[in-house]
Amino acid sequence: MEDKKKALVVGVANERSLAWAIAQKLHRAGVELAFTYLGEALERRVRPLAESVKSPIIEPCNVCDDSQIQTVFDKIKAVWGNLDILVHSVAYANREDLEGHFIQTSREGFKTALDISVYSLVALSKFAEPLMQNGGAILTLSYYGGEKVIPGYNVMGVAKAALESSVRYLAYDLGAKKIRINAISSGPVKTLAAAGIKNFRGLLSQAAEKTPLKENITAEDVGEMGSFLLSDASKHITGSIFYVDSGAHIMGL
Ligand code: NAD
Repeated sequence: MEDKKKALVVGVANERSLAWAIAQKLHRAGVELAFTYLGEALERRVRPLAESVKSPIIEPCNVCDDSQIQTVFDKIKAVWGNLDILVHSVAYANREDLEGHFIQTSREGFKTALDISVYSLVALSKFAEPLMQNGGAILTLSYYGGEKVIPGYNVMGVAKAALESSVRYLAYDLGAKKIRINAISSGPVKTLAAAGIKNFRGLLSQAAEKTPLKENITAEDVGEMGSFLLSDASKHITGSIFYVDSGAHIMGL
């Protein structure tokens, strides 16, 4: 029997997290899962979820800290020896930078948003690469605010633009090793991170009214697409951004 694939999932905060929706689909596809959590408060939410899918690796990880990332990958090496899949579902910006005007973003706020939401993908990919000896698949989560102005999305929009560009550069660097990387540009879903976006309810109701499909997407939709992009069914797809947004991105006004 073939070995089960091994995946590291970074970015579960609770049962509403898009990362959790992806993890559940991977679990159903027979993939073994490792999870990280940010801090003790979230550990209480993440640990029971991880245990429910029999995860052998549940580790703390603040993506700003290379030594914590190193510890996670040391553990993966010790327990599994290799890695097939990395899910990066992490974003953060200071609340004040999501409330006012983009032009008011502080230097520190800009650095924080780009470090946590973008550089973390580069850092995690760098640690994952040597463990992906049989090729691999990496997935990250983006939003249309990285392409067009969504009022209130501010510095997070700039971060998503950098994230999508990073997907392309990483795809080029990792391609020779048969490691693929793609992003899902998700429509709005009510999660912990979404609560930080001003007028998020407005985004939800607009999506329901103005998209071609006239309804909001669900985390499960993201999970389905994620599972496809992380499977061998997409083995010649890399460096791309896929919209799971009820068609919102094709609309003008
Ligand atoms: P979420 O709050 O469930 O997930 C965000 C995760 O980022 C949390 O698990 C949090 O712990 C983690 N995180 C923040 N700072 C961190 C740090 N320093 N170190 C480690 N982890 C850190 O919300 P979500 O909506 O599932 O967000 C996941 C991804 O999906 C994000 O990149 C977000 O921008 C993206 N996204 C969300 C939506 C949406 O509407 N919910 C739409 C498009 C894209």
